[in-house]
Amino acid sequence: DPDTGLEPLEFAVTRNLAAKSTADRDAILASPGFGQSFTDHMVDICWSVRGGWHRPRVSPYGPISLDPAAAVLHYGQEIFEGIKAYRHADGSVHTFRPDQNGRRLQRSARRLALPELPVPYFLQSLRELIAVDGAWVPSGDDQSLYLRPFMFAKEAFLGVRPAHKVAYYLIASPAGAYFKGGVKPVSIWLSEDYSRAGKGGTGAAKTGGNYAASLLPQSEAYENECDQVVFLDQDRNVEELGGMNVVFVYKDGTIVTPQSDSILEGITRDSLLQLARDRGHHVEGRNVSLTEWREGVASGDIVEVFACGTAAVVTPIGTLKGRDFIDEQPSGTLAFELREELTNIQYGRAEDKHGWLYRL
Ligand code: PMP
Repeated sequence: DPDTGLEPLEFAVTRNLAAKSTADRDAILASPGFGQSFTDHMVDICWSVRGGWHRPRVSPYGPISLDPAAAVLHYGQEIFEGIKAYRHADGSVHTFRPDQNGRRLQRSARRLALPELPVPYFLQSLRELIAVDGAWVPSGDDQSLYLRPFMFAKEAFLGVRPAHKVAYYLIASPAGAYFKGGVKPVSIWLSEDYSRAGKGGTGAAKTGGNYAASLLPQSEAYENECDQVVFLDQDRNVEELGGMNVVFVYKDGTIVTPQSDSILEGITRDSLLQLARDRGHHVEGRNVSLTEWREGVASGDIVEVFACGTAAVVTPIGTLKGRDFIDEQPSGTLAFELREELTNIQYGRAEDKHGWLYRL
């Protein structure tokens, strides 16, 4: 690697002799859903204090054997990423800004006291998996292959300290159009009793515990007939949804998104905001209080609110529901336009002006 001086890893490849037949695979790719089926192979790389990163492998997809004392099962020392591979009309396969996911995985690793996987190894793991499972990248409208890199503490030791043995894995799952029958505005439940992250906590890291903490408030959202939950910080500023960032569009064209060290820095958001800047919008990352949101909608100052993330890309927010109020959100067109612009780049239908695509 020209930047890091790292030699590429030499992966030991074991082919899956029980790989799905073309017919079985095609049946899955015809309606993949999300996160239900997995490709024929997986990648893993070991790490130890003494040996660093070693034993890179491509193996048949299957269960992992873990010691019951493996630290991850007790103390949750785990991080992950989410990224999609897209098939273009010419058959080629591309991911979108994977260097950003590689760097975010490193930031998450730092916060969780896990080793930082060098970005070139991260990128190589994506290429290795696509080299054997490329046929699993679907070619239908809005379909993709969802890639799930993750890392966890596998050392068998019950003391509370950073594990001396860690595993990095990459698995992949074909994904269909997130919204069947078109993009629809979502309803959002305001979580008042639970928070997702605290100041100085792990909110900015992509770590399992954050998602575990979001499950109970998410079921509260369902009980209140809402699709998703939005979290506030200790000062009642808006943070994010369980798995998406929030963006506000103002009447004068200004775009504002919550920024703090307890919010996950979304790559979809960063890209959409760049596209908005390209169109001349002024973009601000700052605190947005719940009061600013509700008063802005009431006064007409806020003209659009949307959520964004890798899985759903962009979703307009249709309603915000709290314990004692329901605020209908204004509907605009910018969310749809930016969604279209972004997906056109991802699927190779528009010029990749920013050099975001990475061919696998
Ligand atoms: N916030 C949270 C909590 C998330 O889990 C995600 C999904 N990774 C996002 C925001 C959006 O991030 P991205 O656009 O990189 O998918």
